[in-house]
Parts: sequence; structure tokens; C-alpha cells
Amino acid sequence: MDSLTDGVLVIANGTLIDGTGAKPRPNGAIVVRGRTIAQVHDGKPLGYDSRTTIIDATGKFILPGLIDGHVHLSMYQGISAGITSPTSAEFCTLRATENLLPILRAGVTSISVPGGKWLVDVTLRDAVNAGMLLGPRIFCAGRALTAPGGIFDNRLTADDDDLSEDATGVLCRSVADFVAETRRQCDRGVDMIKIADSRWGDEQTLPLAVIAAVVEEAHKHGAKVSIHSRGSGSTRDAALAGVDWIFHADLATDADLEAVAAAGIPIMPAFAQGEIWALHGIGVASAMRERLKSQLAVNVEAITTAKARGITLLLGTDSGNAQVMTPGKWHGYEAAFFVKHLGYTPLEVITLQTRENAIAMGLKGSLGTIETGMIADILVLDADPSADVTVLGDPLHVQAVIKDGKPVNLAA
Ligand SMILES: [Zn+2]
Repeated sequence: MDSLTDGVLVIANGTLIDGTGAKPRPNGAIVVRGRTIAQVHDGKPLGYDSRTTIIDATGKFILPGLIDGHVHLSMYQGISAGITSPTSAEFCTLRATENLLPILRAGVTSISVPGGKWLVDVTLRDAVNAGMLLGPRIFCAGRALTAPGGIFDNRLTADDDDLSEDATGVLCRSVADFVAETRRQCDRGVDMIKIADSRWGDEQTLPLAVIAAVVEEAHKHGAKVSIHSRGSGSTRDAALAGVDWIFHADLATDADLEAVAAAGIPIMPAFAQGEIWALHGIGVASAMRERLKSQLAVNVEAITTAKARGITLLLGTDSGNAQVMTPGKWHGYEAAFFVKHLGYTPLEVITLQTRENAIAMGLKGSLGTIETGMIADILVLDADPSADVTVLGDPLHVQAVIKDGKPVNLAA
């Protein structure tokens, strides 16, 4: 009879940070069979036969593959010399494909994509799942549903009938519009519906009736709902309507957060993009820069209250939303921000970025920890992230990435 390790993948002899919040501990072997973790064997190494693939992690650190809960693959397309039709769906798809590998190389095995152009992200997700492209696991929305005045309403004047053909948003003017677009996108295979309130939350563009109707329709189709909500009213109404998670919540009052806590809904702030835009955003106008800074301060305050109320906080960087937010570059930034400004320990933040962030992949309980029976997404680093959280997301520290039980060829 074959022993447990015959013909399987084993990661041996590392220090294990399993994503549950448990302290780092010496590990003998993580045994991967197919796409699943078959056994976590603490202590002494096992004996292996010649058919076992062994990744020796001696002196290294093993943790669950990172999850970035907020990445855009098809939003910012950049300016490329020689491209004559940069607003075409065809160019957008090719450009978005280029974003995949750098994300994996940063140790991020899963991304949640709340909004993009056409059905580019759905297409990339399917292509990755089919093995046509090497990339992270993708859980995605289609175009973001926005009311007039919402953040994705980028019409140049209010007289324009509709958004441009290559918009990341789709304009919905009534409850019926929102429900019809939700149904249309679900029929095309999105994993989630993204709805979007106003940019800064100063005005509420999504009333409770709209949010509730979208939630009802999306959940009927098995899709999640996430909302760009910086405002007070939109955050409270999102909680009452039962969305699956809320982005930002900058202006949420204590009473709003009480409603969020009572509904058991997580908040994903995305501090990274605010700070990076403010500090590094070349070409960002100074008024915008100032607004980003003041909004960031308000947001930290609200999220500190959310933390005290026991609301689950998720981590997303908003990578890919602008030129400065290059995919592959910033996926550890949010974790470092949480440690620096919200008082989390590195170990706590790793648990949020793995076990809890699996919520944003629709996979809580099957992805994000290194335990028997979980999906085998595993990262090996040459530095200890529980001592210095800034090593997360840094490709220079990534020694191996395993996704769905298979070692990823990082040189591809
Ligand atoms: Zn975003």
C-alpha cells in the first residue's frame, strides 16, 4: 500500500504560519494531494519515496497564499506606444492579461475584482481556470452599477446620455434598471455585483430600496454583492440591505457601524490606494491629494471604531485602479498600514489577509488557512512576516508559490 506521501507534493521543514492566528511553529511536512491539503504534520520530517515532489523550506516561512480583496485587472490600461485603439475591448483584454503574473509572483494566489470593463475579468477568470493563462484565482464583478452621481458616473456633462463604451461603470437610473443589469451580469457569469455610491460619500446616490433590490436579485443567482460606500447613509443602508461586504465606510457614524456589526457584515477599507495616491500619484492634482489625505484620516477613525465594535475587517489594496497602483507591487501595503495605524499585530493581519479575506472570494472555510482539507494555496517566504509584516507581497522574498496544489512557475 502507498504511504501518505507517495506521488504527492510535500513542503518540508519550514516554520508554519497557518493563517488561523496560531503562533509560528516548526513544521515537518505539509502534504498536498491533488488541490487539497491532505495533512499538516508537525515535528519530525516524514520519509519520502522517489515519487514525492519535495519543496524544502528549511529556514523559511510557510503561510497561506495571500488574498488581495480589491484588485482591478481591466480598469487602468495605460498608454502604450504603437497602440491605435486603446479603448477597444480587445486591447483591454490583452493589457489586463499582463497584470496576472506579477500578482502571482508577489505571493498573491487569489484576487477579488470589484469592477472592470466589458466582461474582460470574467473572461480572464475562465481562461485561468481552464489553464490557458497562468494567474491568480479570480473572483469578479462585471461593470460597476452606478446611479447618476456615483463614482463611476464619469460623463463629462450631465447632458450626456450615457457613459462611454469602455466605462468601468454602467449607469442605472431606476430600481428596475439596477435589477435588470444585475440579472444580465449574473447570466453572463459574474461572481459578484459591484454597486457604487458617490466618490467621497458626501451625497447618497444609492437609496435602501436600490441596494435591497440588487441584493435580492444577486443572491437569487448565487452572486455576492459589494458596495463602494464612503458615506454614512449608504453604509447604514448597505448593512440593512444585507450586502456581503462594504468598501471604505469613511463617514460611517457609530450608529451606522452598530448596524453593520449587528448585520455581521465585513468592511474592507482600502487605505493603501489613498495613501499611495497621496504620496506617489504622479499627476494627481493637489486638491485631489489634499482630499485623499483628509479622507484617509477620517477613514482611519471610522475603521478604528469598527474594529472596536468587533466588525471583521478585510484587506484590499485597490491595485490596478490607476497608473501608480501597478498590479504586483502593493499587495502587502494594506497589511503594513493595518499594523502601523490600527494596532494589529503582524500575525493578526496575516489572518485577515488569508482566512478572513476568503470571504471576498466566496470561499470562507475552504481557502485561506493551512489545515487539512483546505485548498492548497501556499506561499514560502525567506523572511518572517510575523516579525516584519512589510515582507508580505514583496516578490524578492517569495521562494515558492503553490496554487491549487501545483507549484507555480514564477519564471514563466
Ligand atoms: Zn476599486
